[in-house]
Amino acid sequence: MKYVEEYRDAAAAKQYVAAIARIVTRPWTIMEICGGQTHAIVKYGIDELLPRQITLAHGPGCPVCVTSVELIDKALRIAAQQNVIFCSFGDMLRVPGSTIPTSPNAGPGGTGDLFSVKAAGGDVRIVYSPMDAVQIAKQNPDKQVVFFAVGFETTAPANAMSVYHAKQSGLTNYSVLVSHVLVPPAMEAILSSPTNCVQGFLAAGHVCTVMGYTEYYPIAAKYRVPIVVTGFEPLDLLQGIYMCVLQLEQGRCEVENQYGRAVRREGNVPAQDLVAKVFRVVDRKWRGIGGIPRSGLGLADDYAQFDAETRFGVSQYTAQEDPECISGLIMQGARRPEQCSAYGSRCTSDHPLGAPMVSSEGACAAYYRYRRLRTEAGAPVEGGNRG
Ligand code: SF4
Repeated sequence: MKYVEEYRDAAAAKQYVAAIARIVTRPWTIMEICGGQTHAIVKYGIDELLPRQITLAHGPGCPVCVTSVELIDKALRIAAQQNVIFCSFGDMLRVPGSTIPTSPNAGPGGTGDLFSVKAAGGDVRIVYSPMDAVQIAKQNPDKQVVFFAVGFETTAPANAMSVYHAKQSGLTNYSVLVSHVLVPPAMEAILSSPTNCVQGFLAAGHVCTVMGYTEYYPIAAKYRVPIVVTGFEPLDLLQGIYMCVLQLEQGRCEVENQYGRAVRREGNVPAQDLVAKVFRVVDRKWRGIGGIPRSGLGLADDYAQFDAETRFGVSQYTAQEDPECISGLIMQGARRPEQCSAYGSRCTSDHPLGAPMVSSEGACAAYYRYRRLRTEAGAPVEGGNRG
């Protein structure tokens, strides 16, 4: 496949690993922001190919993982109501909340996820685009249709388009439960932490496809860290790591773009304009991490009538996270999944305790999928089921 196979070439990968080994002289910790990058790194064993001086820390860039538990609970409460069609991307359906309405007619009690609500009779549907949810709203004028609008800057334009289109169409039975988060404030929160160990970043290529990368210039300058916009294939990642290590070794702290085939400096300006029209920047609570000022998007005043939290009266609801889940530490690069006491025992892909074990971009899911079956020497078990 064009633009895929050539970025998985083993001989070229070995050359990059050798080039990194030639320039590295001391230990460096580099964080990949995006969970998609984490999965590629773990799947292809890129971290294990690198010289031992380089540590890759897994960042907070998994939208499912960082959606706060109270927002999951709000989704459960809304989805369980009669007369509601609750639409979501598939990953969100297995994320555990703290409490769940056990049936469309019952109050809260027990623990569960959106699949549990569906099993209990709720009308919960997986969609592939928020515009699918708008279409469902048009087809079901006697129902309230809610879309779970999660994600980073990458998904914000499509979600904004659904709300914009709903307003233009005069739809009164469509709303969105918004959980949008923003990358730069999270990077600053990590860099400001007294326990920070991150010295350079691989920025998420798809986020920068939308946003460009000029907003990283002040972060690189203020915290004196190199930031390399990086793609998702093995050679993308190895080249991004090489560029980052080269900057670190040379004492530079610049913003560079490895992912030039998809990312322009200014990003997708029409998409940014639409997001700015429909959303506004708000404080946001991140699952496992806590509140980060001005780190999320909420609906702008002109579109406030599409806010599901207000429409269904769940704005004030709060919830507690499972204390056993250390996802916050993992998403800040301070721990690895194997260092969680529940990993692989009380928390598995079949019975996840936390969102990072659910999501296709979660670090715990990546380790569980690709690395749980190992001999003590570290090699994969022969013929083992790695799925
Ligand atoms: S292994 Fe499970 S409980 Fe532990 S941090 Fe990951 S998601 Fe949370």
